[in-house]
Amino acid sequence: MTHLPVIKNPSDLLRKKSEPVSKEELAGKEIQTLIDDLLDSMRLENGIGIAAPQIGVHKRVIIVDDGKGPAAYVNPEITARSIRKGHFIEEGCLSVPGIWGYVTRHKVVKVRALDRNGERVALKVKDLTSVIFQHEIDHLDGILFIDKADTYTRHPGM
Ligand code: ZN
Repeated sequence: MTHLPVIKNPSDLLRKKSEPVSKEELAGKEIQTLIDDLLDSMRLENGIGIAAPQIGVHKRVIIVDDGKGPAAYVNPEITARSIRKGHFIEEGCLSVPGIWGYVTRHKVVKVRALDRNGERVALKVKDLTSVIFQHEIDHLDGILFIDKADTYTRHPGM
């Protein structure tokens, strides 16, 4: 089991836009290893989501744990957003240790992606899971939750 350290803010690596993954790349060893590395890093740091740039790889791959277990989403795109927005969970980030905050997020989003086997997935998620998808997809565009937070708190030692 590898445990790639999660890159901490500030870093240019967290600010770079990630590239889409081709079908050929997804079937190849590099992206499959990347997915395993992301799963390991997320579990070992007790996260509920992680994005490839957080371990320094600029490919559009995220992991989201929807409460039923973590899964990889490749080239994830938000295809619809609820008008209803709000603060649904206090967000933290493995790349921003010690800071927690509230970002105004869409309550419900529809997401389209590929799974790790290259199969198309379409899902409609709400509340916590919706926030995780919005947070992780932001990482692929070089955006951190602290850029958008309406309020945040420092919890030293966390
Ligand atoms: Zn994050």
